[in-house]
Amino acid sequence: MRMRCFRDIVVGLLIAAFVVFPIGSFGQKAPKPEIIQLQSPQNPRIGFIIHGGAGVIRKGSLSPEREKAYRDKLTEVVTAGYKALQDGKSSLDAVEIAIRIMEDDPLFNAGKGAVFTADGKNELDASIMNGKDLSAGAVAGLHHVKNPITLARAVMEKSPHVMMVGDGAEKFAKEQGIELVDEKYFFTQSRWDALQRVKKEEEAKKKKDAPKPSYAEVPASREPQNRFGTVGAVALDKYGNIAAGTSTGGMTNKMYGRVGDTPIIGAGTYANNATCGVSGTGWGEYFIRLGVARDISSLMEYRAMPIQAAANLVIHTKLQNAGGDGGVIAMDKFGNMAISFNSEGMYRAYIDKDGKPVVEIYK
Ligand code: ASP
Repeated sequence: MRMRCFRDIVVGLLIAAFVVFPIGSFGQKAPKPEIIQLQSPQNPRIGFIIHGGAGVIRKGSLSPEREKAYRDKLTEVVTAGYKALQDGKSSLDAVEIAIRIMEDDPLFNAGKGAVFTADGKNELDASIMNGKDLSAGAVAGLHHVKNPITLARAVMEKSPHVMMVGDGAEKFAKEQGIELVDEKYFFTQSRWDALQRVKKEEEAKKKKDAPKPSYAEVPASREPQNRFGTVGAVALDKYGNIAAGTSTGGMTNKMYGRVGDTPIIGAGTYANNATCGVSGTGWGEYFIRLGVARDISSLMEYRAMPIQAAANLVIHTKLQNAGGDGGVIAMDKFGNMAISFNSEGMYRAYIDKDGKPVVEIYK
């Protein structure tokens, strides 16, 4: 009798464990959001993706003319980079070619069109990385280099260093025959007006006797609307090599000497053939603290995460929870691409699996 009772209890528990609990927990599982995997052309397998900055870009906030100007330029740039890859150029070449075009265009916050520092200067940062051998070059605090991405590449290829800043970097640029320009070259009226606007807002805030901000409190000068237009590119060439690069003027009203994530390898830029290439844009201080670009690569390396899932985890969970904002573009060695951002918009373009350029701006 006691045996039967014991047997019934055991059977009951087994039924509960194998039937009832799983059914119950299946019933409670939230449906996983579907991840659509973007893919580059596969034959030959070459891929190209760019961004022109993330920020508060709401539908309807751009005039039709301005939106067209961005779309046309992004199409031109992504096509130029892709063509370079089709012609057999390296992923580093494609990244440099594309970023130079954007640095030369005042639509973007890089090179001509860079935002102004609090003391009315343009201070430029850039970096590039080669996924083949993890070589990298970065420059920061430049005032006279027309195309910072080209100097970053020269630091990588022609110096024993990874990063050079300020006067020293510009001295090296001169030695390397890299084009230097007068500081006035970088002036644009719209960026100057943006600085004046931000300064006024800051004055108004100060008058209200606001407490001294910590990094968690956002001073006006660092609010998301005060920067966007940083540029970046990630490429996969037909030799199987990934490269990534990023270039920026930083954030409007930034303090003298402030360096953001863009020239910090592992924060704003990273490339490793074994995992992926990443270029970021957003509130640089957060990208540095979180090591955003390297973190995406590490999730792929250590947790075997697919590229879009890794990018989403870093942007939509880690960056979001930390209070930062921005986005990334990324590409793996199979030509799978990822786009992830938690801001209102991000200027971006890529070549789809049929070899066609796709341009997007809004969420
Ligand atoms: N990340 C850049 C910086 O903090 C700015 C941006 O991407 O808009 O310098």
